[in-house]
Amino acid sequence: LLEITAQLNASNRSLQHLQQERTEMLANLSHDLRAPLTAIRSAVDYLTSGQSLSAQDIEGALTLIDHRTGTLEHLIRDMYELFTLEDPSHAFSFQELDAPAFLEEYFYTALPDSHYAGHLLCLSVSQDLHATLADPGKLIRILDNLLSNAAKYAPAGTKITLSAAPSADLTSLRISVTDEGPGIPPEDLERIFNRTYTVSSARTPGSATGSGLGLAIVKTITERHGGTVSCENAPGAGSIFSVTLPAKFLQS
Ligand code: ADP
Repeated sequence: LLEITAQLNASNRSLQHLQQERTEMLANLSHDLRAPLTAIRSAVDYLTSGQSLSAQDIEGALTLIDHRTGTLEHLIRDMYELFTLEDPSHAFSFQELDAPAFLEEYFYTALPDSHYAGHLLCLSVSQDLHATLADPGKLIRILDNLLSNAAKYAPAGTKITLSAAPSADLTSLRISVTDEGPGIPPEDLERIFNRTYTVSSARTPGSATGSGLGLAIVKTITERHGGTVSCENAPGAGSIFSVTLPAKFLQS
């Protein structure tokens, strides 16, 4: 009986924690939705104020509306995706994938993307890898998120490496994206994958915008594969984001 009570208490605590995280995320999201909406509202008020505006003023206000609408679309899309992924009734289509072939094909498809034009993209895949059971579309989402973050936060001209290797005990496949950017402040490493991790705009370069949900999406997809996520600062500078998925390997 004592054991059952302890188990119930533990699941109660984790439910409370989840509930708290969800409330915090909704508070953050409504805050994040409000900022672009306020900007759009003031630009529209400005355009319809009746004062005579130069073509340049009009263009400036329209550009602002365009950017902020993009931010809202991004946020709403990621929010919807995260809620869908967390729904256990949302089925994944798991397939046995040849990991090296899959990663190589992904890499050479992503390479010409203009997102990565300013960076040096490298691939390092161990050929010992073999099959992993994964949903290919969801795996692409993980890779897109990690690589685009690397391109967003690391300065132009630096190297971004996509690598994959088996774990020492050959039971899992570790896929990593390493960059030479600013890295993650050590005090944030623990919570970087949390849905409630709020972006410090001071750290977001230039006009780059994000929903702040990309890494939570990576974590949710990985966990639904039975895997784990991690982030560490690379020696020197930069960060290493990794996902570890259960896998089978060729016997050498
Ligand atoms: P966002 O949409 O803001 O990029 P993410 O969930 O993808 O949201 O990332 C959360 C935060 O983690 C980012 O706002 C940024 O501060 C930090 N971050 C993510 N990837 C990197 C990286 N490669 N280098 C430095 N900081 C990063």
